[in-house]
Amino acid sequence: MQIGIVGLGLIGGSLGLDLRSQGHTVLGVSRKFRTCEVAVARGAVDAAETDLSLLADTDVIFVCTPIVHLATTVQQLIPCIAPDTVLTDVGSVKASIVKNISPMWKNFVGGHPMAGTAESGIEAAVHGLFAGNPYVLTPTETTPQSAIERVESLLRPLQVKLFHCQPEDHDRAVAWISHLPVMVSASLISACLSESDSTVLKLAQALASSGFRDTSRVGGGNPELGMMMAQYNQPEVLRSLIAYREQINRMIALIEQERWMELEAVLQRTQEARSAFL
Ligand code: NAP
Repeated sequence: MQIGIVGLGLIGGSLGLDLRSQGHTVLGVSRKFRTCEVAVARGAVDAAETDLSLLADTDVIFVCTPIVHLATTVQQLIPCIAPDTVLTDVGSVKASIVKNISPMWKNFVGGHPMAGTAESGIEAAVHGLFAGNPYVLTPTETTPQSAIERVESLLRPLQVKLFHCQPEDHDRAVAWISHLPVMVSASLISACLSESDSTVLKLAQALASSGFRDTSRVGGGNPELGMMMAQYNQPEVLRSLIAYREQINRMIALIEQERWMELEAVLQRTQEARSAFL
């Protein structure tokens, strides 16, 4: 197939690398000319330009710009493409995006690959980023089956685990497992940095190992993306943060009141629940 990608960063570039290795022709459009050059040099696209008209003859276009630009990117694409072109996005938030884009383009399928790294930009793009990970599609009642099938036919060979759900259910679910962890992990880093004794802070830094690396990883990711998760999924991010605050308050009370057996019981339940959850 002839595939277009708009936004040649971590996700757009990684999709390009994988889709090209499946034998597809991939054309890329990004904001900066330099990014287009790097994308071609890295083999993420066959050709790239800063002008959306490059994508006039594509079958499927992945819109991979930051969340704030997704709907405007589609608006700008519409005059350049044929009516049967299938558009799909990769935004980390779905309800507001699907609500804005669906009325603009019949052949639109909302999507979200559940994969990423702490890096951003075309240099961060990697082969095989999506393999083994969930990839959510959020079609509505009016999304043509043919459009869904075309997107799925491209994604299946990337070894993703395909899911379908309502955009609103997606946003509530990812608030728990993706957006809340970003806010919690960022708060953990901030709390550590608030240590007032510089000797202790230096020691903590020197002693930090796998536990801190794991728990701080998502808080050390792309700040613009984290901000947009909160901005575009505000009610669900707030709901999960408030529930989390209640759990923290419960922990504080158990520790202050030296209710060690109850604390151990809580940790016992979370130990069991984690393996069942994952
Ligand atoms: P990124 O690495 O910053 O890449 C986005 C790229 O889009 C930038 O490199 C930029 O390239 C380009 N761009 C920005 N505005 C543009 C515009 N108006 N027109 C064309 N290109 C534009 O970000 P990302 O992590 O790949 O995220 C992209 C999308 O993927 C977001 O919608 C995000 O929600 C979603 N997503 C991210 C992750 C993750 O973990 N990172 C996971 C799943 C989904 P230039 O250099 O040309 O400016």
